[in-house]
Amino acid sequence: MQKRNIRPTIVTFIVALFPVGLWLVTQPLAFATTGETLNTLGKLCAIAGFSLFGWNIFLSTRLKVFEQIYGGLPNLYRWHHITGSWAFMLLLIHPTLITLRYSTISLAQGYQFLKPSLNLPQLAGEATLGIVYIAVLISIYISIKHEWFVKLQIIIGLVFFLGAYHGFFIAGSDISQSTPLIIFGTIWVLLALTVIGYRSIFHKSFRKRWQYTVQSTKKEADIIKLSLSSDNGIKQYVPGQFAFIKINNSNLPKQYHPFSLTSIPSEKTLQFGIKQLGDYTNALSNVRAGDIVSVEGPYGEFGRDIDKYTHQVWIAGGIGITPFIAMAKALNNQTVDLYYSFRSESQAYFIDELKAIAKTKTNFRLHLINSEKQPQFSASSIAAQTKDSHAAIWICGPPPMMKTVRKDFVRAGINNNLITSEEFALS
Ligand SMILES: Cc1cc2nc3c(=O)[nH]c(=O)nc-3n(C[C@H](O)[C@H](O)[C@H](O)COP(=O)(O)OP(=O)(O)OC[C@H]3O[C@@H](n4cnc5c(N)ncnc54)[C@H](O)[C@@H]3O)c2cc1C
Repeated sequence: MQKRNIRPTIVTFIVALFPVGLWLVTQPLAFATTGETLNTLGKLCAIAGFSLFGWNIFLSTRLKVFEQIYGGLPNLYRWHHITGSWAFMLLLIHPTLITLRYSTISLAQGYQFLKPSLNLPQLAGEATLGIVYIAVLISIYISIKHEWFVKLQIIIGLVFFLGAYHGFFIAGSDISQSTPLIIFGTIWVLLALTVIGYRSIFHKSFRKRWQYTVQSTKKEADIIKLSLSSDNGIKQYVPGQFAFIKINNSNLPKQYHPFSLTSIPSEKTLQFGIKQLGDYTNALSNVRAGDIVSVEGPYGEFGRDIDKYTHQVWIAGGIGITPFIAMAKALNNQTVDLYYSFRSESQAYFIDELKAIAKTKTNFRLHLINSEKQPQFSASSIAAQTKDSHAAIWICGPPPMMKTVRKDFVRAGINNNLITSEEFALS
């Protein structure tokens, strides 16, 4: 998560409310009776939900313009999740309100409305909600592999068209009776079709991917340090950014995984420090010098503002140290206090590199916290030690730690807008 950015909230509201506005200029509002009110609100929810559902498909393109609006890829993924949840809630409220509307006439009518029928547009509406509901339950309650999570997202994307069919063709549909809504709905469906076509067929030609070769690989405790070289690779990136890599090795799944860059642009190689904790990262032990690697990126906004603040506090937990390695290498005149917390000596990654940087840059102060031997740092004591309420804070580590530390800093009087954090998960 980056500093508070209100653009995503504004965009989300505009996307939800724009078709509602179109509806309001062409259809009279009916609030005379309870039944009419329920009916009107139910339809408004459907239109706003449909718009957000389509928008969520557009966000999945990861286009640069979306990254700029949402403040980096991790934030874009977070908002993809939020927008999807809002769309789902609105689409769930829609039949609930319509059922209540019929129930105000009689319970039998309410039941009649809910009962599955052979009416195709109605079946499409029921199937849309049913499939999305099951997909949401699976992604919340069942721990599934990332690949399956991606497949589930594709299924949810396809279900959008069933929902659109329902919206256009259900008896009494407001969309089909309003020219502006027909135009809006058609544009939304065509854009969604284009996005899905682009994602499944053309994405390789749109996203620049760079070919690298593994120059060296080194195992240290439970991490692998990878160094990649290329004659024609990524020219520019900001320390703190990350890239997706796919390694061409028969012992590795053909998947792209995101990792923070520990190198800086002036170095000849792209470097990564990767903790081995799952199927893919454990299989990285099989990587050999000479393997071909496809790299997509750079992404992220984590280190974007480091030149802006003269005094900075960096907080790293475990493998969350990786973006700070690049940021420390690139550090100029700013004063930085890096608090690095690790579970044991063997899990203190990049210690030699950090100590070497601290030796050459006196403005870089290293505070090591071995949580096996020392109590965990507290944000209030760091805030007191830094004695600078304008110091900007960067946090990267396990999600629960980041949440607690952010809360504690805010409680200790640090402005939430001065806190930037990066989660090692895209959801
Ligand atoms: C912005 C960012 C920067 C990161 N930087 C580093 C780093 O410098 N060093 C490091 O060790 N780890 C880093 N990670 C985490 C790393 O990407 C995951 O640990 C790795 O992908 C796990 O894969 P796995 O199959 O070994 O583990 P699994 O147990 O299969 O997955 C663990 C978790 O990793 C995530 N994940 C799995 N596969 C993918 C995928 N293909 N794409 C996206 N997420 C996936 C999912 O949230 C999953 O729950 C970073 C993640 C992000 C989002």
